[in-house]
Amino acid sequence: MEIDPVCGMMVDVARARYRHIYKGKVYYFCSHHCLKAFERDPEHYLKHGPQGMPK
Ligand SMILES: [Zn+2]
Repeated sequence: MEIDPVCGMMVDVARARYRHIYKGKVYYFCSHHCLKAFERDPEHYLKHGPQGMPK
């Protein structure tokens, strides 16, 4: 299991449909919504940690 860096939910890697590679590391997301939020501003989430579901 990996933590969704956007909302903090646990993501089952084996079944994860949403992933994104940033600076050589793979990040997993619970939803398309979280993936898009991360793509918009990855540094924000890496710096501040999960913020809950994006609004
Ligand atoms: Zn999420």
